Amino acid sequence: MRKQIAAANWKMNLTYQAGEKLLDDILSADIHLASHQQVIFGVPFPYLIMANSEVSEEAYYAVSAQNCSDKKAGAYTGEVSVEMLQSINIQYCIIGHSERREYFNESNQTLAEKVNRCLEAGITPIFCCGEPLSIREAGTQNDFVAQQLKESLFHLPADQLKSVVIAYEPIWAIGTGKTATTEQAQEMHAYLRSVFAKQYSPVVANEVSILYGGSVKANNAKEIFGCPDVDGGLVGGASIIAADFIKIIQSLK
Ligand code: PEP
Repeated sequence: MRKQIAAANWKMNLTYQAGEKLLDDILSADIHLASHQQVIFGVPFPYLIMANSEVSEEAYYAVSAQNCSDKKAGAYTGEVSVEMLQSINIQYCIIGHSERREYFNESNQTLAEKVNRCLEAGITPIFCCGEPLSIREAGTQNDFVAQQLKESLFHLPADQLKSVVIAYEPIWAIGTGKTATTEQAQEMHAYLRSVFAKQYSPVVANEVSILYGGSVKANNAKEIFGCPDVDGGLVGGASIIAADFIKIIQSLK
């Protein structure tokens, strides 16, 4: 079975102390994960070492950075390289979140480089894609998202592509309280899988975990994760409330 994943994206929220308490609250909860299930905490850079040490004793829990540089090393003040992440044993990195695409002008080409850097360092990219409202209203969301995949991922050989986690996040649903319907989520996820099947093979497509992101909450996670092509979620707002994220984890298939 494909990996079913509940990934938290804390974004630029929580103090160090509040983050530590949130992790303690979640990790001490009565959660039983199976070997095909994974929980990932996407925390701010200064909390990565602390978070990694919190989850170190836990099977099926891991930590993710929220971004990395597309450059290997050098005079790039304020940037964080994958080598730095690798040196503190970080296993995942969120790449191409819509907030980075929008506020930091990250292009599909830059994101292709970031994906490359991650894979070179043995870090799994959680690659975000998704359309803005205008594209959804025009009905061209499939082509839009397929183009994002093509320009950032389709240079990868099949064995590398298989290790990338995809997060489909319709921008109009992020942080808005507006969730895609289960029909809209399933339709896009099945479409993305068909794109992978065509570009690579049905076997590869079947192995790729495709998460849904966009106002996943404690009260809708089960229904969304229940869609056959939805393999869990990338969760923003609800991931920084322990009780809510615990329910979301418990909603994994
Ligand atoms: C996100 O930031 O990736 C996200 C999906 O946010 P939210 O769950 O708050 O919509």
